[in-house]
Amino acid sequence: MSDTDWLVLVVEDEAPIRRFLKAALGAQRFKLVEATTGTQAIAMAASHNPDIILLDLGLPDIDGLEVIRRIRAWSHTPIIVISARGKDTEKVDGLDAGADDYLAKPFSVEELSARMRVAIRHLTRSRIGKEGPVFQTGDLKVDLARRMVWVAGQEIHLTPIEFKLLAVLVRHSGKVTTQRQLLKEVWGHGSDEQAHYLRNYIHHLRHKLEADPARPVYLSTEPGVGYRLRYKE
Ligand code: CA
Repeated sequence: MSDTDWLVLVVEDEAPIRRFLKAALGAQRFKLVEATTGTQAIAMAASHNPDIILLDLGLPDIDGLEVIRRIRAWSHTPIIVISARGKDTEKVDGLDAGADDYLAKPFSVEELSARMRVAIRHLTRSRIGKEGPVFQTGDLKVDLARRMVWVAGQEIHLTPIEFKLLAVLVRHSGKVTTQRQLLKEVWGHGSDEQAHYLRNYIHHLRHKLEADPARPVYLSTEPGVGYRLRYKE
């Protein structure tokens, strides 16, 4: 990471939440600029080129999902949805529209800044091409180039589909991946009728990778949304 502060575009129409974010993030290495409408958000995403965007979905003019789609048409800037709606379908729609992650209100400052760091680190790595072929989190090690997996130094044999699924989760590590995204990337289509394939393969992976598959530490379920692979350096 660079020595300069990260520029954060906060898109939120509620003043108390903007004040909360300003106090919380201003104390860390984040500099904030604010937009209160969707139209202003799209304009400021272009004029300020922020490092990350925090976006409330319920805006007074245009829908937050439309804001994501319009920004995604030309920008890879990480977008974290801050949602008061708390509805699973809207989280999924936000992620499928191109958001990187979401947080439901109320959330802690620690949770928010951790998610922001993951999103920024992902972008920095893909920009400078330092995403190495070997991924490690806790005792789990995945060599994407050699297609090998270890848990606590012990090599684990995965079937081709299990490996493909794990590789997608590794590429999105730390971030939630929706069922639709996983089905599309692993099986080539995002039909909801295939959701049971995904559940079965997640079940297989947990049995091979987790010490206690009923209490997974690597592969967590985001209820009604998708899955997240733990990311820790
Ligand atoms: Ca709002």
